[in-house]
Amino acid sequence: MSDFPALPYPWQQELWQGFIQQFSDRHLPHALMLVGPEGLGKRHLARAMAHYALCSQPVSESACGKCKSCELNRAGTHPDFFQLAPDEPGKMIKVDNVRALTEAQNKTAQQSGYKVVTLMPAEAMNSNAANALLKTLEEPAADTLLILVADSPSRVLPTIRSRCQLRTLPIPPREQSLHWLTPLMSGTGRDAAELLTLARGAPLAARDLLQGDTLDQQERWLSDLYQLSLGQTDTLTVAAGWQKGDGKAAVAWFSGWLHDLACWQVGAERARFADLDAELSAALKAISPALLHRFQEKLLHSKKLLAGGANPNVHLLLEELLMDWGVLLKARR
Ligand SMILES: [Zn+2]
Repeated sequence: MSDFPALPYPWQQELWQGFIQQFSDRHLPHALMLVGPEGLGKRHLARAMAHYALCSQPVSESACGKCKSCELNRAGTHPDFFQLAPDEPGKMIKVDNVRALTEAQNKTAQQSGYKVVTLMPAEAMNSNAANALLKTLEEPAADTLLILVADSPSRVLPTIRSRCQLRTLPIPPREQSLHWLTPLMSGTGRDAAELLTLARGAPLAARDLLQGDTLDQQERWLSDLYQLSLGQTDTLTVAAGWQKGDGKAAVAWFSGWLHDLACWQVGAERARFADLDAELSAALKAISPALLHRFQEKLLHSKKLLAGGANPNVHLLLEELLMDWGVLLKARR
């Protein structure tokens, strides 16, 4: 683990201070839920909290990195640190794993301090797993800290949510994000401000755009969508192309782009629409806001379907979405 001990990002400082304060006052709740949009480092913060809570001699608001507990955490073998996650991204957390955790939790801590459990993403619990966890939440063991992480807390069972203290990470002030992001951009030929906009203000998501061909991919999706909107290509071709890449990421991107379109339609400034060619601009402006809203809901629903464990037919789903998009463009307001 290169980032040991995990330390909070600059935009997490306020939340971190609150955590340290509660910890030293021994006022920590049994369960915390970190919520907020993707790309803000919620998982990282959960790890930082775990490292801190397990450290036997924390120094100046951070785990010491030297004690026995820290050594065990550095090696990833701390017997009192349990990490619950799906076996593979996008899959569900197994109920058996939750049950095993409950049993382990009821035993005494092996390093005579806290026991910490991180569970992420909290949305990846089906009702069986959630109910098993509920038992733990209803009868919490002493000196146990459970940290759940959720991008969409509305998808977590309300009975679970209500038993956790929520900690919300908002989108950081733009200046603060740029200050953090700009040094990482040196030599990449990319503009921090532009990436931050593309990432909807989430600094880690902006940084991740630099990796792989994410940006090129987004440019290809955009070009497909524009061509489709102008009738220069057809739905089936675009759907096939999108599926060949990462259909799930394409839908997520489409959903973000559509959100910007809706904002731009009502007069908000959006750089990506500022220098569109006239024909395209007119076509997008002419979409009925009511229909656009309905389409947005459908897109969000598809995004959730793809994010959940339901395993929908990606090709059909893309075809239907793009077909609807075509209809939307034809139906003038
Ligand atoms: Zn330590």
